Amino acid sequence: MMRFSVVSLARNALNFNRDWPRQWRSPAPKKQYDVIVIGGGGHGLATAYYLAKEHGITNVAVLEKGWLGGGNTGRNTTIIRSNYLWDEAAHLYEKSLQLYEGLSKDLNYNIMLSQRGVMNLAHTLQDVRDTKRRINANKLNGIDADWLDADEVKDFCPIINTSKDTRYPVLGASLQKRGGTARHDAIAWAYARAADTKGVDIIQNCEVTGINRDKGRVTGVETTKGTINAGKVAICVAGHSSVLADMAGLRLPIESHPLQAMVSEPIKPVLDTVVMSNAVHVYVSQSDKGELVLGAGIDAYHSYAQRGSFHVIEHQIGALLELFPIFSRLKLMRTWGGIVDTCPDACPIISKTPVQNLYLNGGWGTGGFKAIPASGLVYAHTIAKDEPHPLNAAFSIDRFTTGHLIDEHGAAGVAH
Ligand SMILES: Cc1cc2nc3c(=O)[nH]c(=O)nc-3n(C[C@H](O)[C@H](O)[C@H](O)COP(=O)(O)OP(=O)(O)OC[C@H]3O[C@@H](n4cnc5c(N)ncnc54)[C@H](O)[C@@H]3O)c2cc1C
Repeated sequence: MMRFSVVSLARNALNFNRDWPRQWRSPAPKKQYDVIVIGGGGHGLATAYYLAKEHGITNVAVLEKGWLGGGNTGRNTTIIRSNYLWDEAAHLYEKSLQLYEGLSKDLNYNIMLSQRGVMNLAHTLQDVRDTKRRINANKLNGIDADWLDADEVKDFCPIINTSKDTRYPVLGASLQKRGGTARHDAIAWAYARAADTKGVDIIQNCEVTGINRDKGRVTGVETTKGTINAGKVAICVAGHSSVLADMAGLRLPIESHPLQAMVSEPIKPVLDTVVMSNAVHVYVSQSDKGELVLGAGIDAYHSYAQRGSFHVIEHQIGALLELFPIFSRLKLMRTWGGIVDTCPDACPIISKTPVQNLYLNGGWGTGGFKAIPASGLVYAHTIAKDEPHPLNAAFSIDRFTTGHLIDEHGAAGVAH
């Protein structure tokens, strides 16, 4: 594996970039693996990497039905933050943000982390109270969080409309300065390259069509490339968790919804932070190419089609223009959708399952991109040790029977 460095970049530039090797192998599947990870998105690839790095388990395959990062990892709006309300969620997402901060170095891959700050706007008195409560909770957990009043919001982001004449005037905002964005494809590719280097087989165009069991324990999977046996099978398929779990006779408390995003035509740098508003329901950042990257909430109906309805887009653009009249003459360039699996408490499941040797990582809803590094780390721990890492102990599947839910609807309210 050629390392990325100033020297290798310069040498390859002189050779017109003809000598770069492939970033990962494309092996045929073996008959048997210690662990099969289903799903080649960020979570699956990170899990495989940490299985090898932290636990020395390298006889691992990642099976992906399409191409790496072609699911939600390559469709999301790349917002990263850790300002969740409850301790359990705050600790998990904060660990993730910390891992993101060192990831380019750890994986020797530029993930283009941009800590430009994330602002969550407050538009009503109740919003203000909830936001301040969350800021206090964040501070108690050692997470950076500041309250900005309307004038400070305007100072921090001059193009935002803070006039009192709008439908929902901006009364203030929380600001997490360490929040921001990272390059989504780079996360998938960086973990794939690093996992492959450690001996993990990454197998694309390999759909899992069945999960084989013998006397209540999982023994392997059926795929479009044949039967593959495994000591352990780890599901990591974002919007298809219920479909995969059903193959093992497991019913999940998960609903699958479309979530859309879109980009405008590129413009000169005008917005150097991430702005989110629960009340008018839009969030926006500007990509390095100059496009505005926009998102909002889920479509209300269930679907596995990777597209959503027009009225959601219309509502979202209305909200954008209310906050940023300056964008009124911009053209939209592309819209797309992904399928997100949502749990009743807006928190993920990272857990062993009642089926022996079957593990589940899913239910990230609209906000799992920011969690990829920590999710991979703790899921790998759960698979390797057959017990949860302290950071995911609260996110087990049995919380839906014990009632120990972690209600993060407030912090996860806008899709992000
Ligand atoms: C429009 C949109 C915007 C979002 N914005 C943000 C954001 O700003 N910040 C944030 O934190 N999160 C955001 N999210 C959520 C985030 O994208 C996801 O939570 C995260 O990417 C999930 O990663 P994953 O690896 O679990 O899933 P994916 O990247 O979807 O990977 C799962 C993979 O499993 C594969 N698969 C499915 N079925 C099978 C099968 N039978 N066999 C083999 N492979 C299979 C799929 O092809 C897919 O590649 C957004 C999501 C969407 C859709």
